[in-house]
Amino acid sequence: MSLTLVQAWTSARKRLEAAHVDSPVIDARLLVEAAAEATRVDIIADPHRLLTGEQEQALEAYVARRERREPVSHILGRKGFWKIMVGVTRDVLTPRPDTETLVDLALKSFPEGRVFNMLDLGVGSGAILLAILAERPGAKGLGVDVSEEALAVARENAANLGLAGRVALLRGDWTQGLADESFDLVVSNPPYIPTRDIEGLQPEVSRYEPRLALDGGPDGLDAYRILAPEILRVVKPGGRFLVEIGFDQAEAVQALFKAAGAAEIATVRDLANKDRVVMGVRPA
Ligand code: GLN
Repeated sequence: MSLTLVQAWTSARKRLEAAHVDSPVIDARLLVEAAAEATRVDIIADPHRLLTGEQEQALEAYVARRERREPVSHILGRKGFWKIMVGVTRDVLTPRPDTETLVDLALKSFPEGRVFNMLDLGVGSGAILLAILAERPGAKGLGVDVSEEALAVARENAANLGLAGRVALLRGDWTQGLADESFDLVVSNPPYIPTRDIEGLQPEVSRYEPRLALDGGPDGLDAYRILAPEILRVVKPGGRFLVEIGFDQAEAVQALFKAAGAAEIATVRDLANKDRVVMGVRPA
């Protein structure tokens, strides 16, 4: 028995619904596209195309993994973020749409044509750094991460996007290993989930994503306590910083950056209307 593209999509969707997956329609489509080597347009334009036996087997394996709540990004090894495709493994946080708020703000702060150097602390897959550099040919960036495995993912993403020449990647504990260099823009999406809340997150996150990228300590703020003074030290006078935060952390994170000497501190909400980014400048 062979399935058409549209039948495959429907049957995958039903199984993912039964497994209580959040977005069964989209996930089923992404898995069918990958297994059948079809595009989104193929499924619409040629819905009755038959899958080969091999393609059906591939789809079966993908759907079985997704039923166990493995993230689509891990099954496919990639995730679309902003305007780029980012390679993803279990060693990095999968880039979230929420984080596009930070990219959008960075691009607005450094409009087209600007020459600047940026630093991404806890660079992970490289999603933030690479999404920004891809749109600003005059910019270059340094990504720091404590995880060698994450840096390998970022390095491969930089190369695949043709950005390796403008990206340096360094293993380090936040800014500890940095020389005297200073930056026009510093960004970070640090771990900010309170430790005790991690088990309660959806299984895609709690079972599959790296603790290192999630666990913000007892109140979720451990990383910002270190980052606020360190960021103010490495950002140039007049330079800007943008950090992602949890929905209820704006006040505490603003206070930490204020105490570290930042000015023009503001909180920006994401598309879901949740506080998501704290930004500010180092006084000139
Ligand atoms: N936004 C992520 C989540 O809720 C957490 C990201 C982080 O800790 N930096 O799963």
